[in-house]
Amino acid sequence: MSEIHLRSLVKKFGNFTALKSMDLRIGDGEFMALLGPSGCGKSTTMNMIAGMEVPTEGNILFGERDMAGVPMGRRGVGFVFQNYAIFTHMTVRQNLAYGPKMHGRPPAEIDKRVGAIAELLQLTPLLDRRAAGLSVNILQRVAIGRSAILEPAIFLLDEPLSNVDAAFRAVMRTELKHLQRQFRQTMVYVTHDQLEAMTMADRIAVMDHGVLQQVGTPIEVYNNPANVFVAKFIGSPGMNLLPGRPAESDRGLVVDLGPLGVTAPLPDRLASTLRGRPGEVLFGFRPEQAMLAAEGRGIAAPVTAVERIGARTIVHLGQGEMAMKVVVENDQHASFGASATVVPNMEAVRVFDRVSGAAIAGSTYG
Ligand code: ATP
Repeated sequence: MSEIHLRSLVKKFGNFTALKSMDLRIGDGEFMALLGPSGCGKSTTMNMIAGMEVPTEGNILFGERDMAGVPMGRRGVGFVFQNYAIFTHMTVRQNLAYGPKMHGRPPAEIDKRVGAIAELLQLTPLLDRRAAGLSVNILQRVAIGRSAILEPAIFLLDEPLSNVDAAFRAVMRTELKHLQRQFRQTMVYVTHDQLEAMTMADRIAVMDHGVLQQVGTPIEVYNNPANVFVAKFIGSPGMNLLPGRPAESDRGLVVDLGPLGVTAPLPDRLASTLRGRPGEVLFGFRPEQAMLAAEGRGIAAPVTAVERIGARTIVHLGQGEMAMKVVVENDQHASFGASATVVPNMEAVRVFDRVSGAAIAGSTYG
């Protein structure tokens, strides 16, 4: 049983708490990404699952079995790090065969396994090349193969693609997902790259400052972020968040955005929760879920930059707290300095408490 259950897991280094009471269940055969900025506690969590670090409090269970006191070598986990661990004096074949050989597998089985894993990771033409002469991209692929060949029930990968180049990273994302589907391992994948997490994971555990912020499918965390941190961290660019206060208007309840009397319209589903609510809120919408209009019912602001990103264009509007980005088709007209009206898709409008940062009930969709 390769379910992983983290129960009230805490890790302290002296007075510093790197992980604050984390509860997480990772299902058998699930691909879970641990996602967050540098220093948020991802690797610390991973190292405890692997058995390289001892939890200060809490438990780690694999199935029903508590891993306390079980050394790394007995946990049945495969581990791939950011910096590949490869024997450079050996060939790719010898590197791949190393683990099964150490486990005393018969030569015919080793050959078969090496052949299969090399095929899967597109290493077949390189099998008899010495590792010393190969590129970082290929070496990381060999490192993944070296762990995967042992078919661990639990596969832990800590930023395995951060040293490989961008084009190769895109290829490897697809291959890793394929690998996991093939072997049905429980995979835990540490990354600070939201695109990697979004494209590969079944679910994402978003972390910040040693605190688990939200766990959900890529679409759940994108559509319904639990708080401002997740709203900004997921998506590229992140969600637009404009401070304001709920206010009555002749168009129904709106968010009064303050400067220049600008207001943002609210969908009906949010009006009952927000009507009469004291305090400031953050009016949120994703840059992909808004249109630009010459005028109309929306948020008028000057265009401050027009950024071409290839298939689409990112238009920057407003300044300071009122800064927004909208992703539009390339043929949409927007010129620097001109005023434009941002019309958010009402379905996609989200509202957060300005003080706590938490999403306000009633603002979910999708
Ligand atoms: P990164 O990708 O930068 O490694 P991360 O999210 O994986 O980020 P961790 O490596 O888990 O973060 O570190 C979390 C925090 O714990 C950081 O502030 C780090 O400095 C601290 N930390 C990690 N290991 C130790 C240690 N052995 N002693 C003291 N502090 C540590």
